[in-house]
Amino acid sequence: VAEIMQTLEYGPAPEAAEPALDWLRSHRNRFGLFIGGRWRAPKSGTWFATLNPADGRELAQVAQAGREDVELAVRAARRAFAAWGKTPGHLRARYLYALARQIQKHARLFAVLETLDNGKPIRETRDIDIPLVVRHFYYHAGWAQLMDSELSGYEPLGVVGQIIPWNFPLLMLAWKVAPALAMGNTVVLKPAEFTPLTALLFAEICVRVGLPAGVVNILTGDGRTGAALVEHPGVDKIAFTGSTEVGRLIRRATAGSGKRLSLELGGKSPFIVFEDADLDSAVEGVVDAIWFNQGQVCCAGSRLLVQEGIADGFYQKLKARMEKLRVGNPLDKAVDIGAIIAPVQLEKIKRLVQRGLEEGAELWQPSWAVPKEGCFYPPTLFTNVAPSATIAQEEIFGPVLAALTFRTPEEAVRLANNTRYGLAASVWSEDINLALDVATQIKAGTVWINSTNLFDAASGFGGYRESGFGREGGKEGLWEYVRRVRPRTPLARKKASPARPQRPE
Ligand code: NAD
Repeated sequence: VAEIMQTLEYGPAPEAAEPALDWLRSHRNRFGLFIGGRWRAPKSGTWFATLNPADGRELAQVAQAGREDVELAVRAARRAFAAWGKTPGHLRARYLYALARQIQKHARLFAVLETLDNGKPIRETRDIDIPLVVRHFYYHAGWAQLMDSELSGYEPLGVVGQIIPWNFPLLMLAWKVAPALAMGNTVVLKPAEFTPLTALLFAEICVRVGLPAGVVNILTGDGRTGAALVEHPGVDKIAFTGSTEVGRLIRRATAGSGKRLSLELGGKSPFIVFEDADLDSAVEGVVDAIWFNQGQVCCAGSRLLVQEGIADGFYQKLKARMEKLRVGNPLDKAVDIGAIIAPVQLEKIKRLVQRGLEEGAELWQPSWAVPKEGCFYPPTLFTNVAPSATIAQEEIFGPVLAALTFRTPEEAVRLANNTRYGLAASVWSEDINLALDVATQIKAGTVWINSTNLFDAASGFGGYRESGFGREGGKEGLWEYVRRVRPRTPLARKKASPARPQRPE
């Protein structure tokens, strides 16, 4: 029956969708808010639909949390903090290990659900997103265990409000929740309105592992819910990932409030190819840099800088590769590029592409057409782009690459840094001295050499300039969730603050 139902609802959908659709049905395709360890209908009385961007169909109704709901969630988190903040690190570690194991156990369900809600290819959710999520929880379980020794002298901040975007829904949740919990904070997390579902499945996992009620609270809703969370006086820290525009609003709203703040914002990352680079590998690098997750990646290598002498040959190779990429049903394992998150984002991409044409750049797209139904856009290459052109400066957040040329390493560095952002960069050369020399001159939080999009839980990630501040991952990411306390023992206190000379009266 389920099979027939699915065929009716979804056409000849790949079998892979079934576990996720079943899970949604087990909740009658309607979700409340996860507050204090249980599901509650929103006090706001409002719900909204979350859609599958590949076919525009509704997947579920989710609650729109209002101010009263934010109040309840912050209160629940505060109550839970009283015990969780004092729980020894090695005991908190057990929960983080358990969360990691449960996500691993249900990896396929998470992957399919993410792909349905977000539109990204199943190959990516299955092989990249979910394994990285698991790794993140394992890694931070390790830190929780070490907190009492390696991080003695630090204490958790309290209640943390976390607001995340739609491009890596569960991964961004992991980047935020794992370190916060490991360091003894409690959390009120707001997923993006386009992609709330894996966060809701995660809530269920929290219950399953017996995480104390109120340690993690999940409030679905749009920007209004985010703003209410930011403004709530009971929140000790806000961790935000999203657009630079909203980051600016949040910075303004928290100014002078004493709340700690970390911002992970946009980017316009350069991908620099020198003439001595391994060009075939560099082409594969470009594919990964700009067409991974449809280009909806904060650190996407969206500006291709190619050394002049090889530019034409490199573009030819790249076009040949683009011709072979496949855009379509994200549940199809052979698909390289899935669906754009929503019609509003698709319109933004089209508008910026039009702008590129008006400003004189040359557009190239593969000869095949993308599916007519759903939110799809083909991989796109712009050449002859002026450094000041809109498409070279503005984050498109779509599968559109703007290519520029340079003559010397100095010019490459100048072009690379000619941006208001500074999140990531990629440098390709067989001369490691040249690559390292250039890498150190680029103002970006992460620089990859002869590679791109490599992430690890043990490595801090974050930006310069308008890409934000604060780091996530690695030991440096932990500092975002703790504060230094005065040493506890009298002896240690004495050591830390030697007696000051008395001022003469
Ligand atoms: P967005 O800023 O519109 O939304 C991000 C989140 O903020 C969502 O949950 C949204 O509901 C919420 N929000 C919206 N208005 C708010 C307000 N006034 N107060 C509080 N919260 C509010 O961004 P998006 O469109 O979801 O995501 C795309 C952007 O995120 C891109 O610019 C991308 O570069 C950036 N991003 C950055 C990183 C990073 O690590 N630096 C990672 C992923 C995405």
